Amino acid sequence: MRKLHCYFDYAATTPVDPKVVKAMQPYFFDIFGNPASVHSYGQAALRAVDTARQVIADFLGCPPLAVIFTAGATESNNLALQGLLAPGQHLITTTIEHPSVLEVCQALEKTGLEVSYIGVDAEGLVKSADILAAIKKNTALISVMYVNNEIGTIEPITEIGAGLKVINQQRRQNNLAPVYFHTDAVQAAFYCNLKVNDLGVDLLSLSGHKIYGPKGIGVLYRRQAVPLRPVLRGGPQEFGLRPGSLNTAAIVGLAQAVRLIADQVKHDQTVKRIQGLRDEIKSGVKKILPAVKVNGTVERRVAGNLSLSFSQADAEALLIQLDQAGIAVSVGSACSAGSLAPSPVLGAIGLKPDLARGTIRISLGKFNNYRQVQYFLKTLALVLKNQTNR
Ligand code: PMP
Repeated sequence: MRKLHCYFDYAATTPVDPKVVKAMQPYFFDIFGNPASVHSYGQAALRAVDTARQVIADFLGCPPLAVIFTAGATESNNLALQGLLAPGQHLITTTIEHPSVLEVCQALEKTGLEVSYIGVDAEGLVKSADILAAIKKNTALISVMYVNNEIGTIEPITEIGAGLKVINQQRRQNNLAPVYFHTDAVQAAFYCNLKVNDLGVDLLSLSGHKIYGPKGIGVLYRRQAVPLRPVLRGGPQEFGLRPGSLNTAAIVGLAQAVRLIADQVKHDQTVKRIQGLRDEIKSGVKKILPAVKVNGTVERRVAGNLSLSFSQADAEALLIQLDQAGIAVSVGSACSAGSLAPSPVLGAIGLKPDLARGTIRISLGKFNNYRQVQYFLKTLALVLKNQTNR
């Protein structure tokens, strides 16, 4: 079989859309000024940043003042949690968050923060009632991811937001501080409604490189009322909340990536196409190996994600053999790759360690095609046959 290059790891990162590259190009040499500079070089760059901020604000349905540029979602998540919480307060989160949330929680616990980690069901979904029931007098923040990066489940953000609104009304009457709501929307941005008022969130993290934008750029949306403190110290950029010279080219790139998503009709077609390819892989794999387990709910998942568990297969070996054939998939998430410990997310949905060890994540994107799907299925059949024959 002739080798065909198939990148099926869009949840780890996406290529930068050529339209995004084109939009960024002028901001490296021609319009290179520091947006904080008063002279015309700086002001030209600032105009580009202001336009980009407006594009992102429109996408989120918020005022431009609520858009804080960061160096990526890891930083946005850190700023949301560390910038808000204080010792003695209580945070509610889930067991399936990204390490850029969970690691912060663990570090803050050591400084006197109380954290409740709410589990998910076997389908990978957290119950909004469980989150809301965990609220206590000293609860200051709820942080629940919108879409899980490993199994692609869409968590009930709108439900939590709506329930919290009622609870916060009661808290106000009882002179209690409100509970704020943060969501890590990195894996949702390409697929789900991100209007912050529909979701009922006060803080939301975004990243450029999961939506065909550049790496090293992110956003933290902050509702005006949220009493956030900066985590980094320095200049007055980003409303005093995130010091450092703005990365103009990347900001322009992120806005262009958002514009492509906001082009609703074209975008819907793209998502439909991705879902078609994903479903083709799912049914193809089931034909090869009827016992394969698909992780995460079928109903509430993003179109590009397929998490598959093969009993008696070694996912690391599978990944290497597929890579040799030109196919890129991942084991768990890129962030936990390299560690042989079973993924905590797979543990959280109750997957036994032997099945977790045989789990791969296939994540598709807009540059994939049907030929690649067919090649993948043929290659997988061969690789699995070789593994079981050994
Ligand atoms: N949250 C989730 C759910 C992610 O998938 C990622 C990227 N792996 C991040 C946060 C971190 O984003 P970034 O790479 O922009 O720091």
